[in-house]
Amino acid sequence: EVLADQIAAGEVIERPASVVKELTENSIDAQSTRIDILVEDAGLKSIQVIDNGIGIAAEDVQIAFQRHATSKITNRDDLFRVRTLGFRGEALPSIASIADVILETMQQDASMGSMIHFKGGKLITQQPYAGRQGTRITVNQLFYNTPARLKYLSSPQTELAAITDWVDHLAMSHPEVAFSLSNNGRTLLRTSGNGNLVQVISAIYGVKNAHQMIDFAGEDRDFQVSGLVSLPKLTRASKNYISILLNGRYIKNNELSKAIIKGYGSKLMVGRYPIAVLAIQLDPLLVDVNVHPTKQEVRISKENQLADLITTSVANRIGQQNL
Ligand code: ADP
Ligand code: MG
Repeated sequence: EVLADQIAAGEVIERPASVVKELTENSIDAQSTRIDILVEDAGLKSIQVIDNGIGIAAEDVQIAFQRHATSKITNRDDLFRVRTLGFRGEALPSIASIADVILETMQQDASMGSMIHFKGGKLITQQPYAGRQGTRITVNQLFYNTPARLKYLSSPQTELAAITDWVDHLAMSHPEVAFSLSNNGRTLLRTSGNGNLVQVISAIYGVKNAHQMIDFAGEDRDFQVSGLVSLPKLTRASKNYISILLNGRYIKNNELSKAIIKGYGSKLMVGRYPIAVLAIQLDPLLVDVNVHPTKQEVRISKENQLADLITTSVANRIGQQNL
């Protein structure tokens, strides 16, 4: 069992940022409105995620650490209509198999919550716990029993940048959630959770840049697109500032990035790229998120139609700006 979890961990948990991503996604799925992420030494010393979500019932806490235990899908049909960020039931057992993990959780109106401690996939203790509603997970000594994995990590700065990248994108995808991220006590991101994407973008890219971005929107019978794009005078030398969020999930998709760029026509200088946030809403039936365990690559039906909608929607707004 532990070996199978460690193998799964190899696919899902590549680096500290993967832990941050998985735990934060769980907090979002648990309907949290506030999520605080505290890491030490870029996550190598510890990663803590604290949320105010629905919590886990005492009788379900152990089950949550079993492989393929998910509360998010109950039948085969659900698999094709995934609305939650998680559904594979792999993250908690994977993380618990390669680290020292303590989870404390309390449900609303429950008289008592639960604390559970795993190390290297072994249950150490489970105890009653009294605290505020929500869940706190603390991950210490990540990769302590997988030295090969540890060896291939990048510098702390690079690992921290990967963490920040994920939290930035989770925050963009969920402006209605108040996020904070800190490393060794230093705040790296703080959002208000008031639902305003411009404010989230201000927190990530700076107020000045956010004010040089304009909103766009469009829809057809299958897709709704909306977001923010930078004015043609505000550009970057890399495509990394283009963010694509599909039903609240941060994805990578080169075709859709190109569709945004195409919307600028000749207004973009060669070798320059916009800053953009593109949020796409679609029926979950039109997307297959089960392509890769990390779910960052997805397969979208009618992708060409979607790309055209994006280009037109961006072109409409960028064209209106006589710059
Ligand atoms: P998945 O997210 O794919 O369901 P995970 O291994 O990430 O699988 O989590 C297992 C289960 O533990 C979830 O389905 C959920 O029921 C529960 N869980 C995990 N984290 C939280 C959290 N922060 N708040 C409430 N429930 C949680
Ligand atoms: Mg999960």
